Amino acid sequence: MAACGVTSGLEAGDMTVLSPVTGTAVASLKPHSVAEAQAMVGKAQAAFRQWRLVPGPRRGELVRLYGEELRKAKEDLGRMVSIEAGKSPSEGLGEVQEMIDICDFAVGLSRQLYGLTIATERAGHRMMETWHPLGVVGVITAFNFPCAPWCWNTALALVCGDPVIWKPSEKTPLTALACQAVFERALARFGAQAPEGLSQVLIGGPELGEVLVEHEKVALISATGSTRMGRTVGPKVAARFGKCILELGGNNAGIVCPSADLDMALRAIAFGAMGTAGQRCTTLRRLFVHESIYDQLVPALKKAYASVSVGNPLESTALVGPLIDQRAYDSMLGALAEARDLGGVVHGGTRESVGPDTAYYVKPALVEMPAQAGPVKRETFAPILYVMKYSDFDAVLEAHNDVGGGLSSAIFTTDLREMETFLSARGSDCGIANVNIGTSGAEIGGAFGGEKETGGGRESGSDAWRAYMRRATNTINYSKDLPLAQGVVFDIG
Ligand code: NAD
Repeated sequence: MAACGVTSGLEAGDMTVLSPVTGTAVASLKPHSVAEAQAMVGKAQAAFRQWRLVPGPRRGELVRLYGEELRKAKEDLGRMVSIEAGKSPSEGLGEVQEMIDICDFAVGLSRQLYGLTIATERAGHRMMETWHPLGVVGVITAFNFPCAPWCWNTALALVCGDPVIWKPSEKTPLTALACQAVFERALARFGAQAPEGLSQVLIGGPELGEVLVEHEKVALISATGSTRMGRTVGPKVAARFGKCILELGGNNAGIVCPSADLDMALRAIAFGAMGTAGQRCTTLRRLFVHESIYDQLVPALKKAYASVSVGNPLESTALVGPLIDQRAYDSMLGALAEARDLGGVVHGGTRESVGPDTAYYVKPALVEMPAQAGPVKRETFAPILYVMKYSDFDAVLEAHNDVGGGLSSAIFTTDLREMETFLSARGSDCGIANVNIGTSGAEIGGAFGGEKETGGGRESGSDAWRAYMRRATNTINYSKDLPLAQGVVFDIG
């Protein structure tokens, strides 16, 4: 923390930050007040008036500098992610690498914020689309990715000409303050063209997120978190005709077909289901295995589950770290009990004694289920993989899509027909559909997000930048006539 040079500007107070590594307090902060949150919006609005006039490539230069500063701070920030979110060192560093990658992407993008020239039906006219900065962007993030999603939004928003106010999870505010401290180093190098209030961090719980959600001067809300949160946030933003990117929960599945490379599938499943202790939005939660290979794959999976290392991410090379808190542990136990009642056979899922009683380390659970029912149909944010047998490909596609979440999906097959069908209009209904790789670990170059209860938002790569800009259609008449569209006649002379 000190190595990142963090000064929060916040006093010690009644918001206790726990590290899941030990379950004990690592800091105490005084959250911002509602009045301070309102003031931040005013400051960001003032920043917008200046920043929108700075040329795109120059705005990109600030993001380029931020990418440089992130490279220097990578080790410290990665460790901070491990302390606050409990990720393994490799996954903590990986999250910071995603921030660096999106900065690189956004720098290139800052010279490519272009629109179309469109064929017009009128002679002597030109029609085109132009893209302009949108306004203040409010970013709300979840605990399990304490910094990368903020950067996916912020790197794009900044090159698009928008200031950002970030309301991080109340469980991971220190990582946010550290990211802001690193951003301030880039600002200092960039010089006076960057107005005050370009990037601000709002510390506190949902009530402060609500200030952004309800404020008419926040043009775009990008909210990452549970579907429960999205059900509140989405309608509130819609009621004031604001724009919204919702990145919500998933219930991601994989299908393992008879022709699959089982060794490859095994490794992808293990990382997808157990990595980050099952606390990724893209974690593999449901697995459909063809009956002809079930007795080959599932025993190998059980072996991998039994032998996976669970431990303190700061003191060991364990692959699986802690759950975020007791609530997560309780919801895992509840889901496993429900699964047992429905005939599920649970392997693993036991609490491991790592560190003090206040920390919650569990052996990931693999549950053989007779059918897709009960807890299998919802997201439990813990390392539980429900495994089911299938015999018919069309029926398994139906089952695959028969849940609320629509984020990520994968098929393991070497059969061209199965692969293409999975990716086709009658295949996976998710925002991410993969072949022979797992459901988690997306690259920043693609648009990230999902359908149905995942919220429909897209962020990060591809053309996701458009959400951070306002589109104008311009028609220019350079003729001496005034023809009306669709041949309409309105002759006043
Ligand atoms: P959460 O919904 O409890 O909280 C997420 C954020 O929303 C926090 O900052 C919280 O303070 C804020 N918030 C909650 N209610 C709010 C309200 N009414 N108004 C404004 N802000 C509000 O989620 P969590 O437990 O931190 O994270 C886990 C969840 O996030 C899982 O469901 C996971 O799948 C999802 N997630 C989704 C993605 C994605 O990209 N789709 C990425 C990461 C996490």
